Amino acid sequence: MSTATRPTKTIPVAKPFFGVEEEQALVSSLRSGWVSQGPKVSEFEKRFADYVGAQHAVAVSSCTTALHLAMIAAGIKGGDEVICPSLSFIATANCIRYVGALPVFVDIDPLTYNLNPLQVEQAITSRTRAILAVHQIGLPAALKELKAIAEHHGLILLEDAACAIGSEYFGSKIGQPHSLMACFSFHPRKILSTGEGGMITTNSEEVSTRLRRLRQHGMTVSDLARHSSNKVVVESYDEVGYNFRMTDLQAAVGIEQLNRLDDMLARRRHLAKRYTQELSKLNWLITPIEPTGYRHNFQSYMIRLLPERVASRDEIMQRMLDLGISTRRGIMATHFEPPYADRDWNSLLPETIKATAQTLILPLYHLMTEEEQDWVIQSLVESAKG
Ligand SMILES: *Cc1c(COP(=O)(O)O)cnc(C)c1O
Repeated sequence: MSTATRPTKTIPVAKPFFGVEEEQALVSSLRSGWVSQGPKVSEFEKRFADYVGAQHAVAVSSCTTALHLAMIAAGIKGGDEVICPSLSFIATANCIRYVGALPVFVDIDPLTYNLNPLQVEQAITSRTRAILAVHQIGLPAALKELKAIAEHHGLILLEDAACAIGSEYFGSKIGQPHSLMACFSFHPRKILSTGEGGMITTNSEEVSTRLRRLRQHGMTVSDLARHSSNKVVVESYDEVGYNFRMTDLQAAVGIEQLNRLDDMLARRRHLAKRYTQELSKLNWLITPIEPTGYRHNFQSYMIRLLPERVASRDEIMQRMLDLGISTRRGIMATHFEPPYADRDWNSLLPETIKATAQTLILPLYHLMTEEEQDWVIQSLVESAKG
């Protein structure tokens, strides 16, 4: 790597990529007059299901609302316990609380940052109903092991696949039913974005029908079905539902994002490989791993700094910002936040506590140039000194 020079603009940590196709799709959707959930949402769902290899995909307003509906559709209720990692975005645990259930935090494998299956087994009680696995920043969780545990104990396995579009697990895409339901996010920090948005994939016809009802007020007939029927359709409302619909404006953008997803994934994997090639030469940090059979999508590129060998992480972040580079702390630990401080989790989660303190997310986005990346690497090395 040659000496890099400072770019004129600040390098962001992430940035969604939209082209002229998204602009045109958005305008044409707007002009069609159908802007709420309609034909574009149906088309996006079909395309998404085909892409990941699932029988059904149900679009909603975010991954958080996807997870909320997944909890309801899985029958999780007040008093139930659901096992999940603390090391995740807080929405993972919040959705368990939405249905009155209790998140039971389990520690991570320090190499993958995902749930440690051995400790999952130890956390099961007579009230445990489900395991909510997270594919953290795009690296698949240990699904085979978790599935075996769930089956052995009669639990439901669910996936928070917010970051995992395009990630692969032993040859199949995340979202292909490794579990009852997988929930994806289209927030701008993720790879495929619709501004806000989410998707639930499942192979269960019954579950998908329930999800479609729940996302629109519990209504038995969709607007699209009513509109395209030549008979008067009278709907009923069989249970308390929500308004968690995605709009056709968002879905129109999502379809174009799906068209370029393979390109976006290839670019990310190329840049991630370049980071690893350079950074793995340094003895004061650890680069991300991909265990055999696991394929990362590098939604984020996260390193671990070895604290005894370098300046503090927060100091490094400030120095890099002074050099025009935006970084982020690694994944949060949910159990540190007030709504989850009702129990002393610390002694159970040593690896989570270490990981949240030592990890750092470096810039990675579709249009990042190699020159910009070289500047990031050089600045990291500079900033880490003493
Ligand atoms: C981003 C994220 C969410 C929330 O997604 P939204 O679409 O913003 O609601 C949930 N879980 C994880 C692990 C995430 O990274």
